[in-house]
Amino acid sequence: MKSYDAIVIGGGLVGAAIAYGLARDGLKPALIDEGDVAFRASRGNFGLVWVQSKGIGAPHYQRWTRLSSEQWLRLAPELAARTGIDVGHERPGGLHLCLSEAEFAERRARMEQMRQEAGNFGFEYRMLDHDEAAAMLPGLGSAVVGASWTPYDGHANSLYLLHALHKGFVERGGTYLPNRMIDYAGVAPREFRLGSGADEVAAPKIVLAAGLGNAKLAPLFSLAAPVRPQRGQILVTERAGRLLERPTTTVRQTVEGGIMIGDSQEDVGFDTTQRPDVMQAIAERAVRSFPWLAGLQVVRAWAALRVMPPDGLPIYDESEKFPGAFTANCHSGVTLAAAHANAFAPMVAAGELAPEMAAFSARRFDVPQAA
Ligand SMILES: Cc1cc2nc3c(=O)[nH]c(=O)nc-3n(C[C@H](O)[C@H](O)[C@H](O)COP(=O)(O)OP(=O)(O)OC[C@H]3O[C@@H](n4cnc5c(N)ncnc54)[C@H](O)[C@@H]3O)c2cc1C
Repeated sequence: MKSYDAIVIGGGLVGAAIAYGLARDGLKPALIDEGDVAFRASRGNFGLVWVQSKGIGAPHYQRWTRLSSEQWLRLAPELAARTGIDVGHERPGGLHLCLSEAEFAERRARMEQMRQEAGNFGFEYRMLDHDEAAAMLPGLGSAVVGASWTPYDGHANSLYLLHALHKGFVERGGTYLPNRMIDYAGVAPREFRLGSGADEVAAPKIVLAAGLGNAKLAPLFSLAAPVRPQRGQILVTERAGRLLERPTTTVRQTVEGGIMIGDSQEDVGFDTTQRPDVMQAIAERAVRSFPWLAGLQVVRAWAALRVMPPDGLPIYDESEKFPGAFTANCHSGVTLAAAHANAFAPMVAAGELAPEMAAFSARRFDVPQAA
């Protein structure tokens, strides 16, 4: 049986970012991943490193997301230097477009609440009227009433990111174990054995980062990860010259030139089929936002499943019964990749989560039932 300093289960963006951080900081970890049959949010997402809508009513989530947005400015060049992979990260600020006065008013109230809840930490935003938004996004449709803007938002190529994290992990001495579905666990405090078929591996630290697979794995370690699938559909156009200098919540241009148009939020279980009516609604809103989009061909479209906690906030925990077992779950694995590599991984390496992470524990769901 092979032993490692730590084992991360799940080779998607969450697991790969944590495993990369552990290896970079000197541990000898293993990263175990199920294989190509898996549901993988990490290969079907929209690529935003997005801050402005994160954490309303939950300022700790806003702070965590902002920390990640800042850490992205370190992680992207570090990955480029270590792996030669440019993950295409840009942080030019981002816009959320409002297509009616009602949407604009609701957005304004939301952004103001975020600012108030941020307190001394601060939250910089502006509500832009149509002309101000059009100055940032030439070709904006007349249907756009206005937009919210923050300087913290950005985007990246999340497939390059996944590749770079894996490559950086292996180059720092990490061991990648693909095509293994963990199906049993021998569990004792700081002493874990994991089995996949005849293979067994051991480590004093385990991180469950198996996306939707965490829901089944977590109870084996006396943890809870009540995540559910939420389907999102995305369209991509043919490549064009540089038309959009800034990302918006639902339309962004990749560094290669394709325009990505997203993305729906559908509770349909483990169903990854595409729905023409949903794709049509997504495209219609995008063309109202940017009428010139109607002249571009859609060349690809897909559906993928988000890893969605009940309240939409990440879940991070360490097992009380089996110290050394951690879990990480979120629906913003691109955005939070830098926090996972640069803040969460060091906590795992140090052997405990920082006190401020307690607000992310799944214990927040254990509220007494109303009589
Ligand atoms: C349509 C869509 C748009 C999105 N847009 C954005 C965005 O713009 N910005 C953003 O930040 N986020 C976005 N996301 C979310 C982001 O993609 C996810 O938060 C992130 O990919 C989750 O990564 P993960 O590693 O937790 O899960 P996954 O990518 O699902 O990876 C989990 C891995 O665990 C493995 N696994 C599962 N069970 C086991 C087991 N028992 N043993 C071994 N391995 C196992 C699987 O093989 C899989 O590879 C979007 C998601 C979707 C679907």
